[in-house]
Amino acid sequence: MDECIFCKIAKKEIPAKVVYEDEKILAFDDINPQAPVHVLLIPKKHYASLNEIPEEKIDLLGHLMLKARQTARDKGIKESGYRIVLNTAGDSGQDVFHIHLHVLGGRRMKWPPG
Ligand code: AMP
Ligand code: ZN
Repeated sequence: MDECIFCKIAKKEIPAKVVYEDEKILAFDDINPQAPVHVLLIPKKHYASLNEIPEEKIDLLGHLMLKARQTARDKGIKESGYRIVLNTAGDSGQDVFHIHLHVLGGRRMKWPPG
């Protein structure tokens, strides 16, 4: 997706504060953090949302989830607690249509979410 902002971040065409990278995924600080820790994890390959992930890509989803946990550990919030958010399509408020996990922590989260 030529015009996708997260594809551009994955290809290093626009800058981001990368906190983790491997051959499949990238993690970087959110540009507009909603908590003291706010990291996004994306697959380098473009999928618009969870709705577009094929069933055989279950390993990719597991990889993202475990690296979200690792990110929480690296940011020092694994034990204090954190929230993983995966906004998907219209009513969720998804703004960027390249699937991403949010890892949020460093403050007490509210429930229910807005
Ligand atoms: P969502 O509403 O789930 O689609 O979340 C999109 C997130 O991407 C928001 O938290 C934005 O602050 C974040 N975001 C948008 N552009 C950038 C960027 N260039 N670098 C880092 N985070 C971004
Ligand atoms: Zn993309």
